[in-house]
Amino acid sequence: MCAIVGCYNTPAAATITRLGMLNVQHRAQEWVGIVSSDGHNFYPERAPFRAPGHVRQVLTEGVMSTLMGHMAFGHLRYSTQGASELNNAQPHRATTADGDIFFASNGDILNCSPLRKELRGRGATFYSANDAEIIVKLIAHRYRECGDMARAIREAKRQLVGTYSGVLMTRDRMFLFRDPIENRPFSYAVAPDGAILFASETSAIDIMTADYPAFEGKRYRRAEVSRDTILELANGTIITHEDRQEDRKLAHCAFEHVYFLRPDSVGFGLLATDTRKRLATALAKEIDLSETDFICPVPDSGNVAALALSRVTGIPMEFALVRSHYIGRTFIEHTQTARDSAVREKFNPVSELIRGKVIVLVDDSIVRSTTIRQLVGMIRGCEPKKIIVLITAPPIQHPCYYGVDIKERLIAADLAGDIEAIKRSIGLREDEVLHYLSLDGLRSAFPDPQNWCYACWNGDYPTSIKDYVRPEG
Ligand code: SF4
Repeated sequence: MCAIVGCYNTPAAATITRLGMLNVQHRAQEWVGIVSSDGHNFYPERAPFRAPGHVRQVLTEGVMSTLMGHMAFGHLRYSTQGASELNNAQPHRATTADGDIFFASNGDILNCSPLRKELRGRGATFYSANDAEIIVKLIAHRYRECGDMARAIREAKRQLVGTYSGVLMTRDRMFLFRDPIENRPFSYAVAPDGAILFASETSAIDIMTADYPAFEGKRYRRAEVSRDTILELANGTIITHEDRQEDRKLAHCAFEHVYFLRPDSVGFGLLATDTRKRLATALAKEIDLSETDFICPVPDSGNVAALALSRVTGIPMEFALVRSHYIGRTFIEHTQTARDSAVREKFNPVSELIRGKVIVLVDDSIVRSTTIRQLVGMIRGCEPKKIIVLITAPPIQHPCYYGVDIKERLIAADLAGDIEAIKRSIGLREDEVLHYLSLDGLRSAFPDPQNWCYACWNGDYPTSIKDYVRPEG
């Protein structure tokens, strides 16, 4: 998963962008990239700036002092295409007759090979294994042919198979656009003074607007970038270019609401906190918890669902697992060794609360089982009477090809969806319980369930994949 953040028509654009980037750090922790422009020149001098690490460490005062101008955007990378190295970090650059253009996106393109081959045949050189470089070079190629950037983007979109929420910057304007199934979240906000802020998550926009006088305490118009328009940010305003493709169904990523979005973010029109409450309510209908002592979230991912479950069932909630906030998300650590040690360093079970009790542990997902297996072991060491593990989504059994690193070592896929086998593998006893929310339960959390992607749970992919990926297994 990645994140994009940026702003247009503001003073100190890079500073505001950095603020937003700090607040989507939970989506990606490997590489930071940023570029800005004052309408004449890009910054820093050898744009873009890209470096490994977290925003706070990487975008230092020294770096920020090199980023001038009234428009900027940044990217946080978590590798899903290409290794974790400089060349694969975003933004990517392409050259046109009118100068450089820079691009970053959140999502994954499936038809990289044929596009790369086509563009190489037309003289393009690639420096990365990343799909965003293909997108920007495809747009540059189309622009060379038609001389109209919005049209070049529209034509490029017709050739892309996969998902992308993208931002493109020329010397004096920016373009925001999105894939035809609106798979990855992408919001923007407009201030009365004409400032435009955009980000993968609305929580980042909230923070960016907090100290921005024209937003008047967050009273701004907030909207999602639509698949049907290309937004051109130019001459201090938004120019909307229609871009309706053939009637294709929407497929918003449901895993965003289950896991990725901050609880205070609105994604695809829904507040993540509300979705998680609905998931917990659906879960409560599927399992009898009457013989349990307390509900405990796996913090922070299970907090909202555990609270909602406690309210619905009347069973008290205890914070019997305490997490360190100085350790990041373990799922987006890139190696298994890093993930394992991060879990041990991150959580501490409170044995005084757990000993002799029937504890209901609530989390949002089991992907590789790294976290839950270690948590069950740590809780077992505190001598509970019984452990019940509840997951607010079904077993993940299929890879994601749309920008989330759900590909290998999926415990539910490895064990063919056998819940009893998964239960044993995470260290639960015969008399203990592992329950996943059903797919119907998951779908019931969305008011428009037909408009969501559930492919990692049910294998029903919303785009063609058979020509581009090897069969599973
Ligand atoms: Fe999201 Fe899963 Fe669909 Fe990927 S496969 S887009 S993670 S719901």
